[in-house]
Amino acid sequence: MLPRKLVARITPDEAPAQIDARDDEAALDCPACGYDLRGFANARCPECGSAFDINQLRAGAARVNEPTWLDAADVWQPHQLLIRSLFELIVGAARPSARLTRTSVTAPISAALVMFVLGELWITLICAALLALGIALHCDASPAACARTALVVWAPALLVVRAALYAGLVWPATDARLLRVAGVTWKGRARVAAYWLPALGVWCSLAVALGAAAAPDFALPLAWMAPTLTSAAAMLGIARAAGRRFRQIGPFAVACCVIAICAAVLAANLVLPDRFEPPIWVYVP
Ligand SMILES: [Zn+2]
Repeated sequence: MLPRKLVARITPDEAPAQIDARDDEAALDCPACGYDLRGFANARCPECGSAFDINQLRAGAARVNEPTWLDAADVWQPHQLLIRSLFELIVGAARPSARLTRTSVTAPISAALVMFVLGELWITLICAALLALGIALHCDASPAACARTALVVWAPALLVVRAALYAGLVWPATDARLLRVAGVTWKGRARVAAYWLPALGVWCSLAVALGAAAAPDFALPLAWMAPTLTSAAAMLGIARAAGRRFRQIGPFAVACCVIAICAAVLAANLVLPDRFEPPIWVYVP
């Protein structure tokens, strides 16, 4: 079983007497919380308590590798995968930037693929249920027609918008400078992206579904605004994860974020319906 935190622990004897100003300044912020570690007598963060190997920290390769509950699941137990993926989706949505800074880049890739696929499935099901409720409350249609409209018309459209958003945001999330691992494998990069993207996708689609259930007048404008707001939140998360390294990857991350917004808004314009009433063909058996 993997330890909860795969963080290099150092003893006081091993600790450097002083981290001096000749070091790469941007490399000396805490990988867990971004706290400025320059000038401290050892590499134990006074803010969050994490300890790092000083050489790894100087090389920009110190990272908190935290395996998730889903990483420890048995892939042949479907109920474990369903429950744990929902749990991790909620945890990720509550703090998306922690997915960038803490997701283990060494745990199995299979768990991350499960997270991405089941995460998208959960988002689709939860949003479809809320959208069906919203259509039922605000349109004069049968429950079956409402459910079918939500599942067949709205859910795939929201999935396309999320895919467009992910296509832009995936690049900064897999940047080795942001992940703080020198020579990180493609599996490690894919793991971070697979955990981080659904955590953002929740907000992108749930805002529309909640709007539909609560006030349909706001839901349609939200369908266009949500990808923009989600991308802006993603950018803040990237800036937080990068700390003072943001000077290095900032322009690249901002460019990717702008591409994500443009792609998602274009997709929303192309695929989202412009009204809530079920289309006529929904009633045809
Ligand atoms: Zn810290």
